[in-house]
Amino acid sequence: MARMTVDAEMCKGCGLCIPACPKEIIRFSKKINSKGYHYAECFDQESCIACKLCYVSCPDVAITIEK
Ligand code: SF4
Ligand code: SF4
Repeated sequence: MARMTVDAEMCKGCGLCIPACPKEIIRFSKKINSKGYHYAECFDQESCIACKLCYVSCPDVAITIEK
């Protein structure tokens, strides 16, 4: 099963990964990291197809995709 995770501390909340996802399963967390940013999260891991479009869109390499 594919799994997308965001390193909350590396994420700056730019939101570029959100429209990049063809499955529309990324959103901003209600929580904030230590820098005060609402970080991105995947809210439906089962729908992730491991296409890596979120990964390549992230300028901070905060996203990890596992298969
Ligand atoms: S790997 Fe693809 S489907 Fe999975 S969260 Fe990223 S953009 Fe969405
Ligand atoms: S593209 Fe990267 S830095 Fe921007 S919100 Fe997504 S995970 Fe965070």
